[in-house]
Amino acid sequence: MTTLQLAPPVRRRRLSRKLSVGGVEVGGDAPVTVQSMTTTPTADVEATLRQIAELTAAGCEIVRVAVPSQDDADALPTIARKSPIPVVADIHFQPRYVFAAIDAGCAAVRVNPGNIRQFDDKVAEIARAASSARVPIRIGVNAGSLDQRLYRKYGKASPEALVESALWECSLFEEHGFTDLKISVKHHDPMVMVAAYRQLARSCDYPLHLGVTEAGPLVQGTVKSSVAFGVLLSEGIGDTIRVSLSAPPVEEVKVGAQILASLGLRPRKLEIVSCPSCGRAQVDVYKLAEQVTAAFEDFPVPLRVAVMGCVVNGPGEAREADLGVSSGNGKGQIFVRGEVVRTVPESQIVEALLEEALKLDV
Ligand code: SF4
Repeated sequence: MTTLQLAPPVRRRRLSRKLSVGGVEVGGDAPVTVQSMTTTPTADVEATLRQIAELTAAGCEIVRVAVPSQDDADALPTIARKSPIPVVADIHFQPRYVFAAIDAGCAAVRVNPGNIRQFDDKVAEIARAASSARVPIRIGVNAGSLDQRLYRKYGKASPEALVESALWECSLFEEHGFTDLKISVKHHDPMVMVAAYRQLARSCDYPLHLGVTEAGPLVQGTVKSSVAFGVLLSEGIGDTIRVSLSAPPVEEVKVGAQILASLGLRPRKLEIVSCPSCGRAQVDVYKLAEQVTAAFEDFPVPLRVAVMGCVVNGPGEAREADLGVSSGNGKGQIFVRGEVVRTVPESQIVEALLEEALKLDV
């Protein structure tokens, strides 16, 4: 007989050096933070700030904006000043935008080694400017834009190639005494990405920004990121995360926050314990779960709410929920901590749940 070996929930956190990204601590014993990236043209200051406000409301703690043109660089001072959360300038090709971002008051700059060979003769200058402004730099290696030298050496964007690229780029800054660095080594394959981060975690003590790049649309991207981040974070690897989705960035933030809450790395807020429905269901469980989620989204305290499609497995199956409903015969049995407290018509279920929640001492 084989014995199932379960891993411990979260192993001891890898001890990385701590950075301040515009006042938000990253690394060391700081909580793992959720990041996202705006999708508006950065030069459109109003739209970008509006999206940053939405992301902040959803729980985003650090936001990145792309800086592909001079117009975008020109927008940075206003965005950095008005953003409620630290702004990281994402720069691929133009060293002069790095200086512009530092002068603009951006909290950090992200550069991509595969695209910045032309930075080589500018590294000393960048290190000096970043150091005097206390602006950290993220070395963001992506499988898709790996340095050609490393492609030739390894034949593909292997974990070794990603890690060598990142450490080489760090060494260019270290030569100038600059070590306020964090690193990402993203790959679209979660297992390659996990192997790369594990190697990187053993090779340096810089804080690590986790990401599965080009993870795909909402469902696929959520699954890929959850699997990869779950493995790494449960091994204590990772200081900040970004879920990359082909979906509105606010979804990235929600998924990122859920991943951290599921791993016990941040307090749970609202948790809906809803059954998958089956042939016994006497209510449209999907619709009811959505209505309950919407009604409780802004509830001020952490809450676990159960939505069960029938009374067979109702209160019993959801005993650990703070409160919930099980449906049957056009009615909803409202239960609080496993005890049925009242029965209401189906149309009043959401309202009754809210009323009972307000009575709870949570
Ligand atoms: Fe089916 Fe009832 Fe269980 Fe929902 S709670 S999955 S409807 S048995």
